[in-house]
Amino acid sequence: MESTLTARDRVGVQDFVLLENYTSEAAFIENLRRRFGEKLIYTYIGSVLVSVNPYKDLEIYSKAHMERYRGVSFYEISPHIYAVSDNTYRAMRTERRDQCILISGESGAGKTEASKKILQYYATTCPVTDHMSTIRDRLLQSNPVLEAFGNAKTLRNDNSSRFGKYMDVQFDFRGAPIGGHILNYLLEKSRVVHQNHGERNFHIFYQLLEGGEQDQLSKLGLERNAQKYHYLVKGCCPRVSSINDKNDWKTVRKALTVIGFHEEEVEDLLNIIASVLHLGNTQFGEGEDGETQITTEPQLTYLSKLLGVDGPALREALTHKKLTAKGEEMISPLSFEQAVAARDALAKAVYGRAFTWLVAKINQSLAFKDEVYNSSKGSSSVIGLLDIYGFEVFQHNSFEQFCINYCNEKLQQLFIKLTLKSEQEEYEAEGITWEPVKYFDNKIICDLVEEKHKGFISILDEECLRPGEPSDISFLEKLEDTLGGHAHFVTHKLANGKTRKAVGREEFRLIHYAGEVNYTVNGFLAKNTDLLYRNLKEVICQSDNQILSQCFHREEVTTQKRPETAATQFKNSLAKLIEILMSKEPSYVRCIKPNDAKQSGRFDEALVRHQVKYLGLMENLRVRRAGFAYRRRYEAFLQRYKSLCPGTWPNWQGRLADGVATLVQHLGYKPEEYKLGKTKIFIRFPKTLFTTEDALEA
Ligand code: ATP
Ligand code: MG
Repeated sequence: MESTLTARDRVGVQDFVLLENYTSEAAFIENLRRRFGEKLIYTYIGSVLVSVNPYKDLEIYSKAHMERYRGVSFYEISPHIYAVSDNTYRAMRTERRDQCILISGESGAGKTEASKKILQYYATTCPVTDHMSTIRDRLLQSNPVLEAFGNAKTLRNDNSSRFGKYMDVQFDFRGAPIGGHILNYLLEKSRVVHQNHGERNFHIFYQLLEGGEQDQLSKLGLERNAQKYHYLVKGCCPRVSSINDKNDWKTVRKALTVIGFHEEEVEDLLNIIASVLHLGNTQFGEGEDGETQITTEPQLTYLSKLLGVDGPALREALTHKKLTAKGEEMISPLSFEQAVAARDALAKAVYGRAFTWLVAKINQSLAFKDEVYNSSKGSSSVIGLLDIYGFEVFQHNSFEQFCINYCNEKLQQLFIKLTLKSEQEEYEAEGITWEPVKYFDNKIICDLVEEKHKGFISILDEECLRPGEPSDISFLEKLEDTLGGHAHFVTHKLANGKTRKAVGREEFRLIHYAGEVNYTVNGFLAKNTDLLYRNLKEVICQSDNQILSQCFHREEVTTQKRPETAATQFKNSLAKLIEILMSKEPSYVRCIKPNDAKQSGRFDEALVRHQVKYLGLMENLRVRRAGFAYRRRYEAFLQRYKSLCPGTWPNWQGRLADGVATLVQHLGYKPEEYKLGKTKIFIRFPKTLFTTEDALEA
């Protein structure tokens, strides 16, 4: 008895529901800290896995570890990402229900690593036949490719995903992986043309420059020196000690081949990457008549070649815009600033669309092909993996943070609905009275953002389309008019006419479920419309680069219909995502970053407390503990504790429920301590269970 108590003191509890003082945030964090100190990075809240980034390779991911978690239930073995992977897989197999694993946490917390570990678990432990191994390899190889194009070094994470990702893995009736599909969300395109100090552009640029063969670079007109490219030096950090661009390039090249890219496609893709670099080096100056002109001729030559477009037409489109007034087309010259903005917009558009194309191409190669695997006829099920940006609060928050935090509101909403629903369903299924739990329902914030006509996004779109001279400030005024007085929206104006100091004049504040965030309104309109001049589009539409011609359609320039704004697109894609997730049975992985220095062994309590709050973990625990701390199926409970009671030892012959009743009576459980459901015993307090556990040890 003594020994288990000390062990529990030292390593904490492996499931937070077993915390005596479960409403105490301090106790929660202390438990995390103790476990982290013992290199136990995983802890449960019921079936939710909490993971703390160790920032070093732990020896817990070997094939032997994978084997250990196969077919084993949560409580029998220490918490692990493999336990979640395996339980999800088994639930899919036995219940024939689609599953999803939602991974959340802030930048650098370990979401992408977690999703890769889950995928590796399936790739290693699931049955595969020969021709299915191709799909398995492609699933694995999609990661380095997407990371090359969609990840970058930021201040928070040397390999930060700058897009959201949802990946379905499809399994056949034997449980073998037979296909996959990826949905991508909101790539941070602004990074293509600008990076903050200490950050880089997307990995692929540096990989190509470091690893590309000499004649390849010459063909692309590139020099092996990132310093030469304006788009790569904004953050002043072309090299990162933790990254080997040269090796990564080899990995990516191989991965492209495994996924099934043709040589011409790779070439087209490289042409696009190189053209972005040449765009960055395209400079403008003033001509004799004061008109804006391109001063870097060699760049223009490469550009037209790489983009596969007509040189003079491109020159014209980079320095002029086409307007239609009273049915007549007019060409008007761009100012210097406008030309720079048009160039940057083109770079972002080309890169952004190429990324979308890349995802589509990977999806084609992962698509389940019935004719090849006709042995897989019949039912198949999927496990979805969501690796998406967590709640973000920076010194300055802009449109991107707004979208990301809105996304987190939606996921929190889903979490509340599904967790409460599943708790309630379990109680009902077990015939136990449901005791309603109080919680904050963040629907009010989702509505604030997305309501038709009077929601934030509607107001933003309306302002973007308004004739006249809409500006970020006029947008802020509209927001004040419509949303002023809303409990979750605040500006510097106070109701009594005075000024609120905590919110700047060009800011608004949203009171999110996870906390307050001030957003700077600057840039909201431009980022929402994401404008690319029509004549630039016209030029690119005619590209003989196959990827570009698939990405830019002629209809775009011929139609009068305005394209969907970025916010509306995001809103719609989120709605679809929520629908997908709702149709599946969810599991959760909540990732926590222990310190800001990317260092192993350091546990910064204040930082962790912050994340525990943003992730809503205390609320999660409260819901989970509201009724009963612990539940277990009768057979498992009997199996574990039958030795404690002569009546159930060595084997109970009667009904399982009667066996458990006999057992707990013998152990002296009081009526208020437990309830017996149809298939499970529910125990209200952890203490009861600990006493029983200790009896086992004695
Ligand atoms: P972002 O939102 O910026 O994409 P993320 O949550 O996806 O962040 P990761 O890229 O998964 O974060 O993790 C950041 C780094 O932390 C990894 O590159 C790795 O060095 C380390 N790391 C994360 N999880 C683990 C782990 N389980 N074991 C060892 N190191 C890890
Ligand atoms: Mg990531």
